[in-house]
Amino acid sequence: MKYISRAEWGASPNPNRADGDFVKVKSAQIEGIVVHHSGVQNGPKGIKAVQAFERYHLSKGWDGIAYNWLVDEEGVIYEGRGWENRGAGTKGWNTKSFSVCYTGWGFSEVPKASLDSLIEIAEEAEGVCNKDLWVSTHRLKGTSTCPGDWLGDWVEAGMDKLKEPEVPNWSEIFQYLIDLREQIKLSVLSLSKKSRGDAVEIVQTLLRDRGYDPGPVDGIFGRGTDGAVKEFQMSNSAAGSSDGVVGVKTWDALTTVQAFM
Ligand SMILES: [Zn+2]
Repeated sequence: MKYISRAEWGASPNPNRADGDFVKVKSAQIEGIVVHHSGVQNGPKGIKAVQAFERYHLSKGWDGIAYNWLVDEEGVIYEGRGWENRGAGTKGWNTKSFSVCYTGWGFSEVPKASLDSLIEIAEEAEGVCNKDLWVSTHRLKGTSTCPGDWLGDWVEAGMDKLKEPEVPNWSEIFQYLIDLREQIKLSVLSLSKKSRGDAVEIVQTLLRDRGYDPGPVDGIFGRGTDGAVKEFQMSNSAAGSSDGVVGVKTWDALTTVQAFM
């Protein structure tokens, strides 16, 4: 992740203070991150966009560039007021939030590199504040369309990866396997029946995992599957007779955890 400091992009000191410094932020008061966009289509890019923002914000009499952080269309991260200084990007929320600006146009799809950088900033903010923070948009925190529909929807949906990784729904998975077993009880899988479907695909996958070769895992009970089932049955007494037919006994032998050990 490329990162450009204030010194590197040539940020100005605060003209409203003799020491050129900014009002400090109190990280204990920070509750979240507000995302913005440039608000202009086909505006300046990269470092030029950041410098243009600073000029514009200084022209309004502000202390300097309003945002704490900026991200360009290539995912490069620019230090605005940083983690130390209070931002000015979100009226009414500046003591409670960090503002982060995407320097592109948020009404159309934002490049993945930029999204990754926004996530990185949000995660780092949580590290800086040592707590979980919300992520929100300028449009939810003020009267604005900022940061555009596409980016706004993405942020408000939780910024994808900021979400906890999904835990598999084990009870659903077990229920699915139980249902398949019930089906096999009613109707065995075999070459002569030309069986097809998910159950056949699972049988093929399990045979492969156990070192047998059923041919392609395609959900079609062909000769390869027939041969691999017979081989499996020959070396697993619990699988029943070596007839190549997958009934409940063979299914159970294939799906039992012990068979993997
Ligand atoms: Zn905004």
